[in-house]
Amino acid sequence: MQPLDPAIAAAARQAFAAIVGVDHVFFNEEDQLSYQDKFAVDDALHHPAGAVAPATVEEIQAILKVARERKLPLWPISRGKNLGYGGSAPLLAGSVILDLSRMRKIDYDEANGTVLLEPGVSFYDLYDFLKSKGMKHWLSVPGNSWGSVLGNALDRGVGYTPYGEHTTKICGIEAVMADGMVVRTGMGALDGAPTWQLYKFGFGPSWDQMFVQSNLGIVTKMGLWLMPAPESLMGMDIEFERPEDLGPLVDALAPLRREGLLQQSPTIGNWLRAAATLTTRGEWTDKPGALSDEVIAAIRKKFNVGWWGVSLRLYGREDMNKAAYAVLEREMGKLKPMSLRPTTWKAGEPIEATGWTGTPLTFPMQNANWHGGRGGHIGFSPILPQSGKAALAQFQRTYACYKEFGMDYQASFAFGERHLINVNAVLLDKDDPAMMKRVDPFLKRLIADAKAQGYGEYRTHLDYMDAVADTYDFNGGALAKLNRTVKDALDPQGIIAPGKSGIWPTSMMGAKA
Ligand code: ADP
Repeated sequence: MQPLDPAIAAAARQAFAAIVGVDHVFFNEEDQLSYQDKFAVDDALHHPAGAVAPATVEEIQAILKVARERKLPLWPISRGKNLGYGGSAPLLAGSVILDLSRMRKIDYDEANGTVLLEPGVSFYDLYDFLKSKGMKHWLSVPGNSWGSVLGNALDRGVGYTPYGEHTTKICGIEAVMADGMVVRTGMGALDGAPTWQLYKFGFGPSWDQMFVQSNLGIVTKMGLWLMPAPESLMGMDIEFERPEDLGPLVDALAPLRREGLLQQSPTIGNWLRAAATLTTRGEWTDKPGALSDEVIAAIRKKFNVGWWGVSLRLYGREDMNKAAYAVLEREMGKLKPMSLRPTTWKAGEPIEATGWTGTPLTFPMQNANWHGGRGGHIGFSPILPQSGKAALAQFQRTYACYKEFGMDYQASFAFGERHLINVNAVLLDKDDPAMMKRVDPFLKRLIADAKAQGYGEYRTHLDYMDAVADTYDFNGGALAKLNRTVKDALDPQGIIAPGKSGIWPTSMMGAKA
C-alpha cells in the first residue's frame, strides 16, 4: 500500500478549520500519534495525516466537499475504540480521520424501547442516560465498553444479553453519502414518520446493512432497539475439565439456542481469561514459546477454572426463567461439568456489574498487559457452523498453530442463533521484536487455514481486510466486483474509507495491497 502524500492533507487543514473552527482540527505530531492504532504490528502503515471533528451534518457535508476537491480520503470513526481491529487509525496512511465523537445526541422513545443515537454516544453515555430515566431498558455492551454504541454496531460487535448481536438491533440509519446527499433508510425515508425506529425494512430495498462494515456512507444517526429491563435473571457459570469437552458442550447448547430457550448468546472461553486480566505472564514463567501444560495446570488451579468455561443466562419473567433453568440444569448435568455455580437476581436486588447485566466495563482490556511492555491484541475470528465436531477440529488446528508460532492461546467460541464465532485474541508485546516478527505470518496462516475449511472471518484488522475479502471468492470474486461497482457509483474517488472491508473504487485499485 502506498501512503498518501501528507502535504495534501496539510493543505486541507485550513479549509477544515474554516468549517469546524481551529479547536476541532488536529494535525500536529502528537495528534497524529493519538489517532494511530496502538495495537498495530507496524504503526507507520496506518499513520493518519490528522483529524477533523465536525459537530453537525452540515459540517460533514462541507468537509466532504473539501475532500472531493482535493481527492483526500476521510476515515470516519465514532469514538475510535475498535481495538484489535484498527482502533482509530485509517487503513491508508495519510488519510484524514473524520472524528464524529462530538456528535452525542440521544433520542429515547421510552414507550417503544428504542433510541436514535449520534455516533459519539458511548456505552457509558447511554448507560448513564438510561439510569437517569430509571433503567427501564438495558444495554448490551461489548467486553470493552469504551467505544461508541453506533460504531460497535457498525462493525458487528457483540455483547452478552439477548440483544447481543448488535447489528441485528439496528432499525433505521441516517447517512451522508460521498457526494453530500443525506439519506434516511427504512421508514425514515418517509418525512416525519413516527415508525422510523419500529419497522426495519421500509418500502422497497432495505439499506441499513449497506452501511455496516462498509465505506459507502458516513452514518450520522442510528436507530437501535433496547431490551426491556427483565424482572429476573437466572443462570449458571460452568467449567469443563478437558479440551475435548468443547465438542459435546457446543452440541448441547446449539439446540437450546436454536429453539430459543437460550436467547442470549453464550461464549465458551479458555483458561487464559482470568489470568490474562489479573496477572502477567512473567508471574507464571520466564520461558518463551507457548505456555506449557504445567503452566496451564498452575493457572487453572489458581483461578479454579476448567480448560473451558461458559456462562449461561436467562432473562425475563421469573416464572419462565425458573422453568427454563430446570431444563438448562438437566442438559448441562448430562455433560458432567467440573463445576456448576448457579446465579440468580430479581428486580430490586443489588445488581452485579457485568456484561450479562449490560453494565459497561473496561477491565477486560487489561489483557493487553499480559506480556508486560507495550501490549496489544489482534483478532482472528472465523465463522463456523454450530457443530461440536467443527468447533473441536477448529480448536485443535488453531491451537497447534499457536504452539508452532510460540503464542499463548486465548480464544472463545461465541454462539449466534445459527453460527459460532471463534474469536481468537492474539496477545502481543510490541517490545518483543522477535514475537512481533511472528505475528503477521501467524495471522496469514490462520486465515489460509480457515479458508481451506471453507470458513471466512466476520471481522478483521486493517492489515488483513484485503486478504480476508479475497477469501470470499465464489464465482471469480463476484461479491468483490459487486462491492466495487457500488463503490464506483457512489464514491468513485474513494473519499470515504478506501480499502475498508477490502472495498476500493476502480480509481484506487493500485493502492490495494
Ligand atoms: P468504537 O468506538 O465503538 O470502537 P469506532 O469508532 O472505532 O467504534 O468504529 C468502528 C469502525 O466502524 C471504524 O473504524 C470505521 O471504519 C467504522 N465507522 C465508525 N463510525 C462510523 C460512521 N459514523 N460512519 C461510517 N463508518 C463508521
